[in-house]
Amino acid sequence: MGMLYSIGEVLIDFIPQQKGKALKDVVTFERMPGGAPANVSAAVARYGQAASMITKVGEDAFGDFLIEQLEEAGVRTDMIVRTKQANTGLAFVSLREDGERDFSFYRKPSADLLLEEIELDASSFGRGDILHFCSVDLVESPMKQTHRKAVNSMKEQGGIISFDPNVRLPLWDSAEDCRSAILEFLPSAHIVKISDEELEFITGIQDEQEAIQSLFQGDVQAVVFTKGAKGADLYVGKEKYGSNGFTVKVEDTTGAGDAFIGGFLYKLLELGATSENLIELLHDQHADILRFANASGALTTTKRGAISALPTRDKVDRLIKT
Ligand code: ADP
Repeated sequence: MGMLYSIGEVLIDFIPQQKGKALKDVVTFERMPGGAPANVSAAVARYGQAASMITKVGEDAFGDFLIEQLEEAGVRTDMIVRTKQANTGLAFVSLREDGERDFSFYRKPSADLLLEEIELDASSFGRGDILHFCSVDLVESPMKQTHRKAVNSMKEQGGIISFDPNVRLPLWDSAEDCRSAILEFLPSAHIVKISDEELEFITGIQDEQEAIQSLFQGDVQAVVFTKGAKGADLYVGKEKYGSNGFTVKVEDTTGAGDAFIGGFLYKLLELGATSENLIELLHDQHADILRFANASGALTTTKRGAISALPTRDKVDRLIKT
């Protein structure tokens, strides 16, 4: 059976207790484990497939906390490097009354995971494995190199590459830097997950169908287009498979996209996907895969946080059967 390797950011999200305030006016925060790649690994492990996180945290209390939380979800943590040189990453994000987001990030040490600190040769991976990554980890060049190595090694083994551009503009010097890093890595992925809010920014094309087709570059075999409450469309080349979202009582949409792609990749592992059978498998099983992923995303919106909001496999199954 294959394993998901999720590479990149893991950090502590501090969620404001006072809603709608500017960050400087928030007095109390709740501490939650986060970072998009970590959320995806937790979803896959929680539903019952093998998942491992590749990242770096400090040798400090928050590093201990993150490792504990990932292990509790069932994620393997033996590829998490610990360092004394920097503290574990932190993220403070508040949604102001005017709808704008205030950010304050401390992104070391996961952004500085160096090639020489971790074994990422092809022998680290196997056929039937999946590597998932996001663009926030392409901002700094050490991590970009580490990503390139992981992608190449996974490909050598015939594994699947999954990429979520996950645009976070405040982290970049310019929108152009962000776009060009995304377009640099996109052709190396087999699966690209993109949300309706990101499509025009990344492609520069207004027409939805044309924009989606423009993403089929290099090795891209499938594009998963997420549309919030409206569900998601899966494109396998020119073939489009639509799916409806589930109606739930929304509490906090943080981590919905990660839970969605986590559910999607979980299904691929369960079905024994490889880069060779991926297209056929997506054509045959699209309905089941999308239904599971939509249920995973929807249920995650019913609770606060990302990893802490992930449902059990049982809950996903029950929603699917409704
Ligand atoms: P992202 O979080 O990456 O921007 P979306 O907001 O499109 O992505 O959400 C990802 C998936 O999570 C959707 O395709 C859907 O399955 C589920 N989802 C998100 N928001 C809701 C919602 N309000 N109600 C039900 N499902 C949702």
